[in-house]
Amino acid sequence: MRILTKDFDSLYEISAFFNLPTELIIDSNKEFFDQGSVLPDEINIPGFSLLPSCFQEEENQGAIRSVERTFQENKQKLWKHTSPAIVGRMEYSPEILERDLAVLKQAYPYASVREIGKSVLGNPIKEIKIGKGNRKIHINASFHANEWITSGVLMELVNAYLIALTNNGGLHGAEAMGAYRSVELSIVPMVNPDGVSLVINGPPKGLEKNLLKMNNGSTDFSGWKANCNGVDLNNQFPANWEIEKGRKEPKSPAARDYPGNKPLSEPEVAAMAKLVRESQFDMVIAFHTQGEEFYWGYGGREPGDSEKLAAIFSKSSGYKAVRSIDSHAGFKDWFIQEFGKPGFTIELGKGINPIPLSQYNKIYNQIKGIFISALNWR
Ligand SMILES: [Zn+2]
Repeated sequence: MRILTKDFDSLYEISAFFNLPTELIIDSNKEFFDQGSVLPDEINIPGFSLLPSCFQEEENQGAIRSVERTFQENKQKLWKHTSPAIVGRMEYSPEILERDLAVLKQAYPYASVREIGKSVLGNPIKEIKIGKGNRKIHINASFHANEWITSGVLMELVNAYLIALTNNGGLHGAEAMGAYRSVELSIVPMVNPDGVSLVINGPPKGLEKNLLKMNNGSTDFSGWKANCNGVDLNNQFPANWEIEKGRKEPKSPAARDYPGNKPLSEPEVAAMAKLVRESQFDMVIAFHTQGEEFYWGYGGREPGDSEKLAAIFSKSSGYKAVRSIDSHAGFKDWFIQEFGKPGFTIELGKGINPIPLSQYNKIYNQIKGIFISALNWR
């Protein structure tokens, strides 16, 4: 929400009036404060909205501006976000994601959203960043198309964190602002937008024939994991990729498991590798389905912290910690091999993919423990 500042004498007065940490207000107005402005004429207030005009007494074009000026006498016209604006429990398509990113950007301008690359079909791959600490933590979802439930869960977790920040809330006993100050959180909620759209919306016009062929002639795309080139994006990283290439079936583009012609050949994977290299994350977590377990090692290259974190994650979620499985070329495999830092593949839920939405609440409550434990990692 944007307000006029003329009724206030200082930023600190605004901070006290809205009961918001000053730094969240400053970070929501970087464009003004970066220019050194002491108190701009207008300012974004995170975590608040004005009630829609249908709830306002005076319904005229000037209402919003007059409300901006008169909110002091009439606090009830302001709406503080205390519950999630995002509903993750739905078929979470790229269209829903775009809409929700716009909602979060509007309500919480201190969170930034940017494009880190494009999919095969030119759809944007987006990254959300929250916080400004030295510890860099990255979490992603939907590397695999029919695991789209992970995107809804991750977006709702992000929303819960943003709410905790603007409501002086806590994260399992730790203050949310403590995490904001010590962690720079990077979120890529949907690595494979084309694949997710294929599973939820069906094949895009003009590509039906090719996709049907890769899907063995079936119009049922619910088993599809790959991107629209028929390459499995979590089989594409340069961590013993040749072993996977040699032993994996199929040997040509398909709904799942095909590792491609060479590592990093797919734009989605190249975008993720570039992001990781540039960002120098201290920990990465990839959300997949299914199994209610997670993998935390790769080739003995994982640091001592990985085992400690695995114990915490296991306790906070009830998921089984598994050091490693006979698999290569995955995102977390490459991250551990290349950087020697903690990386995790978390398998949400239990059953056959796509995991039914009836499991959503249970999954959310299990994974919330891991999300918060990661943010509280010091
Ligand atoms: Zn997966």
